[in-house]
Amino acid sequence: MNCIFCQIAAGEIDSDIIYEDDRVVAFRDLNPQAPVHLLIIPREHIANLDATSAADAELLGHCALVAADIARTEGIAESGYRLLLNVGADGGQSVDHLHLHLLGGRRMQWPPG
Ligand code: AMP
Repeated sequence: MNCIFCQIAAGEIDSDIIYEDDRVVAFRDLNPQAPVHLLIIPREHIANLDATSAADAELLGHCALVAADIARTEGIAESGYRLLLNVGADGGQSVDHLHLHLLGGRRMQWPPG
């Protein structure tokens, strides 16, 4: 499968990985939208949240907890951050491998664009 995030998880292409375990990988976004902008992905190829089921509950929870841990180590837990998941075309998803964006280091706007 020609999935860029699967290739990153497999170490087949370069990326700035800051955390990995047997289930997830976290790396810095190539085109950061904030001083801290990381992506947390499951190693398993899952297209997006719409492709998940109850069987993925533990994995999704693990992704969120890893994001919270990274926010602490990146020093943005106290100032705050945004965790977001784009789903499909209207959600702004451009890479079809489920990923959580962790954004921080500046004040986020609302509503989002
Ligand atoms: P989304 O628009 O939610 O699908 O987000 C995809 C994100 O992946 C964007 O923020 C891109 O900048 C980022 N991205 C795409 N290719 C890479 C890559 N090779 N390494 C790191 N981040 C990437």
